[in-house]
Amino acid sequence: MQRRYLVAGNWKMNGSYGANAALIASLKQRAGEYDAVEIVVCPPAVYLESVGRELADSPLLLGAQDLNEQATPGAFTGEILGAMLAEVGCRYVIVGHSERRALYGETDLRGAEKFAAAQAARLIPILCVGETLEERKNGSTESVLQRQLEAVIEACGIAAFANAVLAYEPVWAIGTGHTASPEQAQAVHAFLRSELAKRDAIIADSLRILYGGSVKADNAAQLFAGADVDGGLIGGAALKAADFLAICLAAQKSSRS
Ligand code: PEP
Repeated sequence: MQRRYLVAGNWKMNGSYGANAALIASLKQRAGEYDAVEIVVCPPAVYLESVGRELADSPLLLGAQDLNEQATPGAFTGEILGAMLAEVGCRYVIVGHSERRALYGETDLRGAEKFAAAQAARLIPILCVGETLEERKNGSTESVLQRQLEAVIEACGIAAFANAVLAYEPVWAIGTGHTASPEQAQAVHAFLRSELAKRDAIIADSLRILYGGSVKADNAAQLFAGADVDGGLIGGAALKAADFLAICLAAQKSSRS
């Protein structure tokens, strides 16, 4: 199965009208060169509409960083419904990022509910899973990933993964500069794919699994070379056009299509 590479930039809580416009303008100049790669930018919610307008005549796609788990509008102060994200032009939404899990108490179950809410709004969830350093050290990486994945499979069914993206983001590698080695990343990606293949081999084979955690211009090519690595979810390096474009170029060169 030829899986199209995907590189998504998670801007987290960064940006301003001026900075966003400059970043998007630089990305647009080059994005057309990376035709084997789907490129997504995920700005803070308040900028989705303006960034979406700037992306309009480009191949770049818009994604959100989070959504509420409800499927219908209501009294949820400060929250954002999936349908609202779709209406402002989002195609993707990140679900279960480790910062949401660690800082805002997001559980596996809540992540599963958000995954379902995203799909109900016709958004493609980018489901993040990953172990902490302690969990890696005590040998529970696989059981943690199984648990995180199982919560979504149980709530949404394996078929839901036909229209989703998975991101392996070891918590110890996010924003730390300590990336997983290409071998570590590939081993976990293969494990995740095999777990899904136990339920449905075709869906597992077609699912894109991104690596995230300190991906930079100088390590992207090695990480993306893994047979089960289909691109990256990029934090810090997504804020600098040259760095993000270099990562997109690495994906383009690694493209198996
Ligand atoms: C992330 O937050 O999803 C991430 C991968 O961040 P960074 O690239 O900065 O490690």
